[in-house]
Amino acid sequence: MTAAPTQPHLGATDPERLLAGIRGNVYRLALTTRVEIDRDPPARTSRGPAGALRLTKPIKAAAYAPPLLTQLRDAIRPNQGRTDSGRGGGAQSLPYDDTASALLATIEGEIAGMYRSALELEPLGTSEQLLLEWLREFEFAYRAGDVVDAQLTNYLLRIRGWRFTIEDHFTPPRKQEFAHCPACGYTHYETFTHGEITRQRCVTVTYYPGNTRRPPVAECGHCAARWTGVDELAALAAAVDSILADDAHALDEPIIAPIPDDPASTDEPDTEGRPTP
Ligand SMILES: [Zn+2]
Repeated sequence: MTAAPTQPHLGATDPERLLAGIRGNVYRLALTTRVEIDRDPPARTSRGPAGALRLTKPIKAAAYAPPLLTQLRDAIRPNQGRTDSGRGGGAQSLPYDDTASALLATIEGEIAGMYRSALELEPLGTSEQLLLEWLREFEFAYRAGDVVDAQLTNYLLRIRGWRFTIEDHFTPPRKQEFAHCPACGYTHYETFTHGEITRQRCVTVTYYPGNTRRPPVAECGHCAARWTGVDELAALAAAVDSILADDAHALDEPIIAPIPDDPASTDEPDTEGRPTP
């Protein structure tokens, strides 16, 4: 199953802050940067009522990290280039990382295209260099008044998307379930696809241990209610807790949302006999 559709969440629309966002993401991709390490990631408590996600703000520590593009390149053939004496098994050939290779090729292709169209030069050099040069050119154009807000938004989403994709490659997002959806009142929902009923928890939280500044997101698969960030998730947990405070056995039995009566999504005659992708 793929991740729930996560709409881009832009905290800022002020042009200066959008530009700062672009700059920060370019730096993380192309320069050695100071990063925050989550020393206290959210963890499952033993039997917490609200789906047991610990919702404290993480304790953070600082460290320096190589550029994400460099890390991704190094990950393709982990036993080449630098000697990583901290990890054992150096004599063994580690496997070629196809996913990292494909990811890097895609991102480097996009960086080269961006560089070519902004600077009207052939892209020569590492993609880290190209991206930094592109940023300098872009900031120059911005100061000259040649950049519209939509471009800021588009570039921020695009460049931040590369960063998130690389971070997710190294540290996959984690998911956890909440017992109950306070928005629609159900605990589970069912989907009827290809002749089979699948039951799922309504509310799933996705969080990102690879990037402590990326807010966790909870979403209800039934009613599409959404909670973003630690504060909203704390409100969600409090709402679930208050249901239990009223009735300690409230969540003992699943409360299952009815399958929507939508022929378009339930009848799929044209897929008969075809394997599920
Ligand atoms: Zn819901």
